[in-house]
Amino acid sequence: MTSGGAVAGAGRYAPSPSGNLHLGNLRTALVAWLCARTSRRAFRVRVEDLDRARDAGTANQQLDDLSAIGIDWDGAVVYQTDRGASHQAAIRRLDDAGLVYECTCTRREILAAPSAPHGAPGAYPGTCRDRTDAERRAARDRIAPRLPALRLRSPLADLRDGVEFRDVVLGAQRGEVDDLVLQRGDGTVAYNLAVVVDDHGTGVDQVVRGDDLAPSTPRQVMLQRLLGLPTPEYAHVPLVLGPSGARLAKRDGAVTLGELASAGVGPEEVVAVLARSLGLAASGERPTAAALAERFDPSALPSAPWTFSPDALGSDA
Ligand code: GLU
Repeated sequence: MTSGGAVAGAGRYAPSPSGNLHLGNLRTALVAWLCARTSRRAFRVRVEDLDRARDAGTANQQLDDLSAIGIDWDGAVVYQTDRGASHQAAIRRLDDAGLVYECTCTRREILAAPSAPHGAPGAYPGTCRDRTDAERRAARDRIAPRLPALRLRSPLADLRDGVEFRDVVLGAQRGEVDDLVLQRGDGTVAYNLAVVVDDHGTGVDQVVRGDDLAPSTPRQVMLQRLLGLPTPEYAHVPLVLGPSGARLAKRDGAVTLGELASAGVGPEEVVAVLARSLGLAASGERPTAAALAERFDPSALPSAPWTFSPDALGSDA
């Protein structure tokens, strides 16, 4: 990440509208925004709503919460469900290159199949990979009215040796890539494909997100290569843990902006707590998000998870 000098690119935050953002999500969003703004990038917000019927209420609340902690973005919010034509164009390109095949396996069949010679445990065993046209038609008929999923014919070397990428927080990373699903049998485009197509299509060249997604990144890097797209800069930020040591979740009490507001903790205090967790504010200080940008140093991003305790709130307000 560079500071100074104009960089024609963008960072982004891409929430799934599955519920209200909690402190962990807000912290990742704040870091993504700081990384983009301090490297003179644009910042985009994309609602990743492929998996669920569009729920405008949840998405709008997420956007309001981002604004409430001082995160702004450029251009209109992108809704992934509006990007179907680009997703399909990418699948067609891969298909034209002979890199797509139909898969009729159920989850249970995949689990029961012996693993592929080079595959990691849990990797797709390749059952449908090398079917003749006649076998493919017969398999389709067998599962009707269900439709086949589409899988990527992943290059075998990537399956065996893994795909590498460099991460600003985690350093050099490598992961094996199996024949991942590009489109499910119900027609829903898979996250790995959509994220690659949408990041590129909206000028994103810096991806900052939770480190739970680091294991998916080799798949995305491989898709970028096969589609001839540049690989963005990656920074996977450690997740926030709750007092029990497990990933922060609803059971940990008041963790969303709305719940915190009901408990008398306003967005300014939330920004202050997140800033302290990032080593960007001292106790008792209440810097705005914009003020944090003045002191932010991406190379000093904490690489250990932050454990949130409700005591962190209001203690020095
Ligand atoms: N939509 C994903 C999530 O909310 C994030 C995807 C990404 O940042 O690439 O976990």
